[in-house]
Amino acid sequence: MFNLIIFGPPGSGKGTQSANIAKKFGLIHLSTGELFRYEIENGTPVGNEANSYISKGQLVPDEITLRLLFKHASKHVNAPGIIFDGFPRTLNQAKLLDRMMDKKGLKIHLVIGIKVESDELVKRIKHRSRNSDRNDDTESVIYKRMEIYRQQTHPVMDYYRKQGKFETVSGMAPVETVFQRICKVIKKYKHNK
Ligand code: AMP
Repeated sequence: MFNLIIFGPPGSGKGTQSANIAKKFGLIHLSTGELFRYEIENGTPVGNEANSYISKGQLVPDEITLRLLFKHASKHVNAPGIIFDGFPRTLNQAKLLDRMMDKKGLKIHLVIGIKVESDELVKRIKHRSRNSDRNDDTESVIYKRMEIYRQQTHPVMDYYRKQGKFETVSGMAPVETVFQRICKVIKKYKHNK
């Protein structure tokens, strides 16, 4: 298995890039945000509880997030690999993911952080908030999400940097160019696996 994680602030294009990577490399795309939105649309208890946090731009508590993620991840232990999009978002989630992978004899091979300058993020986010039907894509909630990303998710990158598996890619380019940059990094790591 080749397992990777994509990090990026709201507006960095990580969802789009993750979907493209999954398609090209035959990986299972697991987006915790998408899993939550599915639960919300279906009015499940998990969805209702998660929505009370998501609609305010807050992180869903680890216990709920991990239960949902592990339920889905465990279906794919025999897949060619998994791309984790939007997970982990806290240091605690990162440590628990490592523990879960370890128990199954698996590991995270590569973590990619997409970097986009703040001015560009703000521009993209304003555009996105006009065209999105997500209830957490209003301008004020997106700013809250950016703040949480800076405070809670950004530090998680150091955890992976110390493990020698963290790479950054500039997201300051059209989608296809960023995708090519990401592919180059993935190929290097897949080759050395
Ligand atoms: P995303 O689609 O990745 O932007 O996620 C949308 C929202 O879902 C986030 O703003 C959080 O409220 C929630 N969420 C997604 N992934 C996680 C996670 N790993 N931990 C906690 N909350 C999450």
